[in-house]
Amino acid sequence: MDRTNSRDRALRERAQAVIPGGMYGHQSVGLLPEDYPQFFARGEGAHLWDVDGRRYLDFMCAYGPNLFGYGQPEIDAAYVRQLGIGDTLTGPTELIVQLAETLTGMVTHADWAIFCKNGTDATSMALVTARAHTRRKTIIRAKGAYHGAAPWCVGRPAGTIPTDKASQILCDYNDVASLEAAVAEAGDDLAAIFAAPFKHDAFIDQAAPDPAYARRARELCDQTGALLVVDDVRAGLRLTSDCSWSLMGIQPDLSSWGKCLANGHAISALLGSDKARKAAASIYVTGSFWYEAAPMAAALETLRLVRETDYLQRLESLGRRLCDGLKARAGAAGFGLRVTGPVQMPLFLFDDDPDLRKGFCWSSEMLARGVYVHPWHNMFMCAAMTEADIDGALDAAEAAFAALKRQAPDLGPVEKMAFLTAQG
Ligand SMILES: *Cc1c(COP(=O)(O)O)cnc(C)c1O
Repeated sequence: MDRTNSRDRALRERAQAVIPGGMYGHQSVGLLPEDYPQFFARGEGAHLWDVDGRRYLDFMCAYGPNLFGYGQPEIDAAYVRQLGIGDTLTGPTELIVQLAETLTGMVTHADWAIFCKNGTDATSMALVTARAHTRRKTIIRAKGAYHGAAPWCVGRPAGTIPTDKASQILCDYNDVASLEAAVAEAGDDLAAIFAAPFKHDAFIDQAAPDPAYARRARELCDQTGALLVVDDVRAGLRLTSDCSWSLMGIQPDLSSWGKCLANGHAISALLGSDKARKAAASIYVTGSFWYEAAPMAAALETLRLVRETDYLQRLESLGRRLCDGLKARAGAAGFGLRVTGPVQMPLFLFDDDPDLRKGFCWSSEMLARGVYVHPWHNMFMCAAMTEADIDGALDAAEAAFAALKRQAPDLGPVEKMAFLTAQG
């Protein structure tokens, strides 16, 4: 797509002058194909419009927060209503109690909740709570798993110092022997084992959690007195309305939530069991905006929809339709496309594509046809998508595979690939 003289191009140039690197974090310049827009004008339901007026069916869902559709009327009405009553006040409203009651009623392991703004707040609070509870230092987490952008867990080392990641042992996800070795190495200093609900690392195939790994993590925590933390910031509410590991019958001591908890409004949470209550009451955690009432009103309405609608079956059937359809069309076009992870949060990677040149080309061809997909990060289904949307995306995919086939012999390596993979 030619973006010369586009509004997006003009904004990128202005951003280069006033925003470091032109943009930061997961929106950093160069993470996506060149023709992807950096700036959006609006969103509605399952669709996004960029600043040049192009409309996309959005399979990123704001990297997770969009669960029921952008601008979902009931959720946004609850938010706006509360804005008119009071949002950031000197203290919380009664909504904080209601929301904590709702979540502890919904999530089996949870007896209490602390609300914050970002997923990183919740995972960092889990770390501190576990250390306060055990009076020990060491945590175990899986290599490549994302837990946020704080110095203790961020993937890129710039600006961090080795001690930020001191007292951490990395293990291999789903590898019981590696987990056991890490626990042995921690000795009598183990504070917590962190776990993603499933393997949802960028750039590599996703994988379901091995129940034996989950069971062993629980046992090892019980044996050592360490806390088990499930980081449900990304997967929460998309696999089940309980903590994701409850699907395997495993209850953690702490779980972190965020992203779609209020369908795009800024709130996250750390949930915990009674075992960790005293420690959670002992730590000092807060933020100027952590008591905001409007996102809590939006979260309550989101959770009402979670309880009262068939959204999860919709996400599953739409996701299945997309994933099955894509595999069939890729196969028919002669491409090996690996579609991994739960169908509600799929990741697409091409076989024989070590530097993602096929993935970038195909994604660009999808974008040109009005479908926003991601070449190396998992995507998200939302309940505002329709079967017609999915069928349209599959038609686009068929044409995009044909275009890829034509271009494949001439594709050059993806620029900035080294930069990209260094994020992991
Ligand atoms: C996004 C994410 C986080 C961090 O959440 P933020 O709101 O971006 O701070 C933590 N853990 C997981 C698994 C995530 O996907």
